[in-house]
Amino acid sequence: MALDVAGSLEPREVIARILERGIHAVQADRATLSSLSDDHVVVEATHGRAGELTWVGQHYSLDYFAGQPLVQKAIETMQPTYGGGLASDHAAPEFRQAIRDVRHVAVIPFVHGGKATGMLVLSRYEDRPFTNDDLAALTLLGAISGLALRNARLYEEGEAARKRADETAARLRAAVEAAEDVASQVQLDQVLGRLLERAVASVGADGASVARLEGTDMVLESTTSGAAVGTRWPIAPKVLAGVKKGKSVELTAAEYMGAPEGLESIVQPFRRFLIAPLAIGGETIGLLAMGRHKDEPFDPAAVQSLQQLSTLGALLLRNARLIAQAQDAERAKSEFMSIAVHELRAPLTVTGGYLAMALDGGFGELPEPLKAALQTAQRKTEEAKALADELLTVARLEGRALKPSADRFLVTEVVQEALVRGRPRAELIKGTLKADIADDIEVQADRTLVSKILDNLINNALIYSDHPPKVRLTARRDGDQIVITVVDDGIGISSQDQGRIFGRFARGTDRRVLEKPGTGLGLYLSRGLAEQMGGSLQLESSRPGKGSTFALRLPVGVA
Ligand code: ADP
Repeated sequence: MALDVAGSLEPREVIARILERGIHAVQADRATLSSLSDDHVVVEATHGRAGELTWVGQHYSLDYFAGQPLVQKAIETMQPTYGGGLASDHAAPEFRQAIRDVRHVAVIPFVHGGKATGMLVLSRYEDRPFTNDDLAALTLLGAISGLALRNARLYEEGEAARKRADETAARLRAAVEAAEDVASQVQLDQVLGRLLERAVASVGADGASVARLEGTDMVLESTTSGAAVGTRWPIAPKVLAGVKKGKSVELTAAEYMGAPEGLESIVQPFRRFLIAPLAIGGETIGLLAMGRHKDEPFDPAAVQSLQQLSTLGALLLRNARLIAQAQDAERAKSEFMSIAVHELRAPLTVTGGYLAMALDGGFGELPEPLKAALQTAQRKTEEAKALADELLTVARLEGRALKPSADRFLVTEVVQEALVRGRPRAELIKGTLKADIADDIEVQADRTLVSKILDNLINNALIYSDHPPKVRLTARRDGDQIVITVVDDGIGISSQDQGRIFGRFARGTDRRVLEKPGTGLGLYLSRGLAEQMGGSLQLESSRPGKGSTFALRLPVGVA
């Protein structure tokens, strides 16, 4: 009978069962269960014979039992006791009436670790005293009830701890996800935008901003509304004091003062603010501020979430700054390069013009040795001009100054034009240059850039061969891309070289390559151009002595 009180792990259900079983076991009229701790007692619930259960939950000081010797004795001896009624004049006013009707009482303490941890008080309203027989039944009930209640409480605590651990894990997971998500953005403004979105979601705010610290002012770097970026705001002293200590600070709307003139409307919709420092290596470099429309305090979980995000935010803010600086430096370098190359190219054009004129007899008949020297000078001038042109394209590509158009055109057309340009060289070395391309294949790309890439690939295919080369171009559709391949039967590329030939100024290490003039920029540029058009360039296959296949992928032409 008593055993089934232990059948549940829900404390309230266990209590309800103990009360019910107690009443039935000894035919009592009322059962009341209380928990005891070192300094107080909690009357948990009381159960009448008719089956009504009332949850009380009242706390009383322990000396409340001073006037109830029977209860006192049960607690002290840790043994069930019984006797006449309780002293109603010593009871709390709310129980006095009920206690006045009680004729007989049995008190069963719950014992754990040498202490009474609770008790069950059973009362009878009629004059039928409790007996030693009742006591035997109640002793067993008391022992099992004490255990069952304790288990249920432990389980409840365990559950709460597990829930807290789950919550912490979820928060950590969210922070890691946020880190990955935010870190995948390279542009500074995007990094900050994502950070704010994440922070607003995890803290339960309606708006947010991130600012960099400048003395006692802050300068807004990003806001969820996109307003007021770049404006300078004084920092409230309370905020300043908190963030200097690395703590987040909560403010009410009344405490938030000092919006710059004309910008008051930005903070007006918010009734609560939570501001966290963005600190790195002990130095606060910025602030992450959350705003809530409702005047509700932020709970500890929200504060903790923001703290986690702000650590991440500080790192990202600094990294993004470093990246932005590196990009600025790269742009400045590219700009410098393009100016320098321009300046170099101009005199080359003039020199080339004079050389051509001289060789055409514009300055009269030339002696043979001079003519030969001038021809060499002319060839070198052309090479230098070609290099200058390549460098200019590199500078524009790296400085992101290249804006390819996206025209729709037939692949066969650009390929035929490229063949026309490449044929003289092919014939010179007795090679063959052919294309086999269906005449309905269209791409969406920049025609001039595609021509440049094809020229590079065809030239390489003709040059890097130790016998009269056979070069063939094909095209096919692959999903939403068109693949144009340039296939040769030349010297091929060793596997070590395959990994580096797309690098800037990278040339093969084969002697037969180094004998030929070249800059090592062709493939680097061609790949960059292909990517700018939403395509790619890859070495599809290559075998030393057998030849190579390069694949240029471009978006398919759409109507
Ligand atoms: P360059 O031709 O000026 O050296 P590229 O960037 O066009 O520069 O090519 C880089 C290197 O790739 C070449 O030096 C060569 O080693 C290798 N390469 C490119 N195309 C071919 C090819 N069709 N066959 C063999 N090697 C090639």
